[in-house]
Amino acid sequence: EREEPHHFGAGPAQLPTSVLQQAAKDLLNFNNIGLGIGEISHRSKDAKKVIEDAKKHLTELMEIPDTHEVFFLQGGGTTGFSSTASNLAAAYVGKTGEIAPAGYLVTGSWSQKSFEEAKRLHVPAEVIFNSKDYYNGKYGSIPDESQWADKVKGKKFSYVYLCENETVHGVEWPKLPECLTSDPSIEVVADLSSDILSRKIDVSQYGMILAGAQKNIGLAGLTLYIIKKTILEEISKASEDELHKLGLPITPIAFHYPTVVKNDSAYNTIPIFTLHVMDLVFQHLLKKGGVPAQQAENEEKARLLYGALDQYSDFYNIPVEKSCRSKMNVVFTLKKEGLDDKFLKEAGEHKLTGLKGHRSVGGFRASIYNALSLESVQKLVEFVKEFAENNA
Ligand code: PMP
Repeated sequence: EREEPHHFGAGPAQLPTSVLQQAAKDLLNFNNIGLGIGEISHRSKDAKKVIEDAKKHLTELMEIPDTHEVFFLQGGGTTGFSSTASNLAAAYVGKTGEIAPAGYLVTGSWSQKSFEEAKRLHVPAEVIFNSKDYYNGKYGSIPDESQWADKVKGKKFSYVYLCENETVHGVEWPKLPECLTSDPSIEVVADLSSDILSRKIDVSQYGMILAGAQKNIGLAGLTLYIIKKTILEEISKASEDELHKLGLPITPIAFHYPTVVKNDSAYNTIPIFTLHVMDLVFQHLLKKGGVPAQQAENEEKARLLYGALDQYSDFYNIPVEKSCRSKMNVVFTLKKEGLDDKFLKEAGEHKLTGLKGHRSVGGFRASIYNALSLESVQKLVEFVKEFAENNA
């Protein structure tokens, strides 16, 4: 039992109470087998069913086509940065026998970190653009593709990478850029850690999607992947000798995508409780009406909150351009100095928690992920207005 929270933390994030209640029961005694779900073999019938169910429900929610495969890996977004670079560089070798650089579209600290990891692993990689160069040296915008599409046209990339929602800076791609989706030679790899299942997307446009669980879909420790089957075949074709000769990294076995897929996400011990929680979140969302229902609610939440901040624009500042404002992480600062602590303290008195901005940006960040109800956002909106009125 708990009182409904209003927790705006960026992650790990609030989850639906009913999901946690079910998970708590299943941790003790799963399906009345007399054992908790964390105590059974990852190769048992019950565990296999959890893996199957999670895949089935996700496939239904995201309308994942037959061309793509779903799998789960231990770790978080950061392990995904490393495994993306080594697996996708190998795929290009498997396909062409050559190396090509990966191209990174940098729009905030998570895409920047992912790029840095590729470089650290000696995977050839270059920045196609860094949005800071278009916006006074700061993150907070996405340049129109007319400004950078010529850097992609006619060029060979092993893959092109972007972070669909930059959690720290509150910048979200409104849609995939056309210069990428219209070119069949480009495999788009996207980090959806903080906006997966928040809006409808066309999975067929992606070579690969990765998403850490601890924001919209569950607990930390597990990462979700959706990958084109042809890319899996290409990775398998690249021999370790060939990769070694080309100076590319060899992927550690537990993160080697074809090996994991061949073993149905249980090459090694999959954290099955964590996956079960993810599946409970999927089931919860299906019951709610799936992604379209959630998307409508998310749009309304974002409209209300940005609306209040814009209404008091003498008092609040939003450092993100309107065209790419995140519907998941609403970043804002106070124009007056010396009031930040007061804002947080009074928000806390209203039971509104988790609002402190990332240490690299300062100010505030209200993360309004799927599990944050419209009521929670309405409460925050009232507080935001009241605080501006009282402290103007
Ligand atoms: N990508 C994005 C978009 C994120 O928001 C985060 C973490 N908040 C990460 C990657 C890194 O995730 P992890 O801490 O699980 O490695």
